[in-house]
Formats: sequence, structure tokens, C-alpha cells
Amino acid sequence: MTQADRDGASLDPENWDDLRAQGHRMLDDMFDNLATLTERPLWQAPTAEQRARYRAEAPRGPGALADVHNQFMTDVAPYGSGNRHPGFMGWVQGGGTGVGMLAEMLAAGLDANLGGRDHMPIEVERQIVAWMAELFGFPADASGLFLTGTSMANLCAVLIARDRALGADVRHTGVRDVRVVAYASKGVHSCIVRAMDMTGLGWDRLRLIETDADHRISLPALEAAIAADRAAGLTPFLVVGTAGSVDVGAIDDLNGLADIAGREGAAFHVDGALGALAMLSPTLAPRLAGIERADSLALDFHKLGQIPYDAGFLLVRDAAAHKRTFTYSEAAYLRHAERGLAGGEFWPCDYGPDLSRGFRALKVWFSLKTYGFDALGAVIRRTCDLAQTLAAKVEASPELELLAPVGLNIVCFAYKGADNAAIVADLHEAGRVAPSTTTVAGKTAIRAAIVNHRTGPNDIQALVDGVVALGRAQAAAREARGG
Ligand SMILES: *Cc1c(COP(=O)(O)O)cnc(C)c1O
Repeated sequence: MTQADRDGASLDPENWDDLRAQGHRMLDDMFDNLATLTERPLWQAPTAEQRARYRAEAPRGPGALADVHNQFMTDVAPYGSGNRHPGFMGWVQGGGTGVGMLAEMLAAGLDANLGGRDHMPIEVERQIVAWMAELFGFPADASGLFLTGTSMANLCAVLIARDRALGADVRHTGVRDVRVVAYASKGVHSCIVRAMDMTGLGWDRLRLIETDADHRISLPALEAAIAADRAAGLTPFLVVGTAGSVDVGAIDDLNGLADIAGREGAAFHVDGALGALAMLSPTLAPRLAGIERADSLALDFHKLGQIPYDAGFLLVRDAAAHKRTFTYSEAAYLRHAERGLAGGEFWPCDYGPDLSRGFRALKVWFSLKTYGFDALGAVIRRTCDLAQTLAAKVEASPELELLAPVGLNIVCFAYKGADNAAIVADLHEAGRVAPSTTTVAGKTAIRAAIVNHRTGPNDIQALVDGVVALGRAQAAAREARGG
């Protein structure tokens, strides 16, 4: 290998062999770490001493890579949030894969910036867009791009819908005298609420509609709210459907919402962060009927897709409308050229808020090609089957109660008469299984979101056993206190 102009200022090594050897060690360490996940606690709090080590002075001089790596292995790696562990059921988080990790390394090696210009990494991202358009029944010329997560993808979707309703001129004038209203169910993710203020529309312009017994948006209540707003001189501009609500995994009636949005001339957006990828499973796909009618769809590859963080995604039916919301052609330094490196027909920076963007598409491309759509679909199906297994165990136990119907992969339940939040905290500290809590119909629920591809029947049993043992211990302690 030739080294041009080596004057010692470059950060590259004089000799790559040492870096190569250390790199192989680091790779091996991480494979070992992944292969032995269950031999360590799912979660443990870092000690005060360890935390204190991370308030060190900024290093002015160099350190040995091997030492830095050792510090990572002792202080950081064992103290993660545990989402890779099969007992992790706390929040809706994927478990990652070795393939995703390797692809992420390659992406960093290439150091690609996918803001725009004419290079092959952008074609990889466009490949994912095309696959997603096909999977979700969107037109072949739909646009899309990677974002950090669905929070960002939802924000972009609300902006696109805003501009569709108010006209692109709103980008010049800013939002004033808002007469447009959005609708979503009470179970909608908080990021939709936050998107309303970040787009300048305001929370007052979002109607949170009642849900039915299955936690799906009530269509009659939605129609009544729209009628009331129309009577008050307001115009519906956006209907948000949720495909997999974060609390209980409910899927709204997407066809019903598409009908209403169409009739009202409003945009129809689907938050599919949690559930959209269930489309990969032929068994589950019918539950998402109507998703193909959305104007835009947000989803997370880092949840059921098992892609390492982060990999949010937005798909938009009308590419021209998508571009109108984000493009800005006045900056000379971002001029698109006819040819050369500054050419290229699709610049992602014209379709989202980011200019510099990493190569998230690569880990998704590697994973989809390595595992195949069908195997990922089977993983998703299994998470839903495990959720049904858990629900059946809860219903079979006189001490436990199911607090919400299980529509997808989330089970909300409780130990009757216990402090369920304390049970959950005790489970976290024990480090075998980690559910989370939520509130369902005014009650504190233990929420098990089965998302991780590593979770199996033993983990479900460990959760049930753990909850029952802690619930009984609480009851015994109350008894001993004479309560
Ligand atoms: C996780 C989630 C979000 C937020 O997605 P991020 O990737 O965490 O930004 C939004 N909506 C639903 C339904 C979710 O489950």
C-alpha cells in the first residue's frame, strides 16, 4: 500500500498491522459478548466509582487503543440497558444482530455521508425505499428515507401534511392563525403530540379520540369530533392511524381511517413504529389491511426489524409533496450539478431535515439480504405467539389478571392486589427479566413487550414465575405486618 505525503499529521497509523490485530481482538470480544449474553445480568446499575471515572479530564495526549478498549469492556459493555438480552421485555426495543453490527462497522469504514451527491451508498438507501414501497403496497415512485427513529419520521410526516394543507407558502410565512386540525387516538405515541408543537401548529390542534374496548380509535367518536370542528370553522388536515400502539399493541382500523381521511380531504399517516413490519409475516399482514392507502408511513427497523440502533424510516406516497416540504435550492454550496460527483438525481437532504447523514441503509440492506424477508417475518410472528403464550399463562393463574387484549406482541397484566411497580423494579434488579410498567384503565400494569428475536418460552416462564414469587412475597410481608 502506498502512503501519500506522510508528514505525521494524519490519524492513520504508520503501520496498519497493529491496528488490524487490535481490531480483530475487538471484534472477537464483541462476538464473545454477544454469545454469552445470558451468563450476565440483563441489567445492573453502574457503581458510583465507575460513573465517577466518566467525569475525567479531557485527554490532551494519546492513549493506547487497547487500553481504551479494555476500559470499554470493563465499564461500559456490562452496564448497557439490556435490550439485547432475551429477558428484555421492558420497552419496545429490538435486540440487534451480529450481521447488523458487522454492517455498521463497514458503514463506518466507508464513512459515507448520505446527504446527497452521486455515489453508490445512496442507491443502497433507495433500494430499501423501493423494497418498502413494494412491501406496503405504495406506488413504485414513492419516496422515503432513513431517520433516527419514528419520532423524527412522524415529525416529518406532520410537516408534509401541514404543507399540503396550508400550501408550500407556509414555508415563507410561517404558521399563523391555524385553522387546521389533526386527529389520532388517545393511544397515539407522545411523539405525535410533540410533532404538533414542533411544526408550529400547537397541541390545541390535535384531537385525541376515544378508543374502543380493543384500544383502537373509535371511528364514530372521530366522525363526531370532525363534525364539531367543521361546525366551528376548522378543517381536518391529518388523520393519524397507529399500527401497534405503544401501550398495548393495538392496530387501528386503517381502512376505516383511510375512508374518513379521504372523505375529509385530510392526509392519512400511519405510525407503524411498532407494528408495520408485521407485514413481513403472511399470518400477521392481513391485520394491517389499509396501510397501503396511507399518504405516509413511519416505521422502525430497530424494533421488530432487529436492526441495531438507530434505524427509523419514513415512506411517502407523493414524492413531489415530500420534496416540497424540505428542499431548499438557494444554497450555492449545495448546488446539484449535471454531472460529476455533485450530480445524482436523489439527494436525501431534499427529503428530510438532515444534511449530513450516516449510512443506516447498509445495516438494513445486509440484514434483509442475509436473513431474508421471510425469516424476519417468522421472528415477528414468534414474538406475537409468545405474547399469546404469556397471555394464556396470565389467564390461567388465579393470582394474575390480564389488563388489555393482546393484539400483537404486548401483554399488560398485573399481580392482583400487589404493588406492581415494585414488582417490576425488583425484577430489574434481579437481572433475569425486565418488563416495564404502564397505566391501563387507571391501573398500573406490568407491560411485557416481546420484541427481541432471542426471547423464548423459558423467558416467558421466568417472567411469570418472577412476578408470582414477588407478588406472593409482598402478600406475605403484608400479612406479617398484620395488614
Ligand atoms: C417507539 C415508538 C415511537 C417512537 O419511535 P422512536 O424510534 O423511539 O423515535 C413512535 N410510535 C410508536 C407506536 C412507537 O412504538
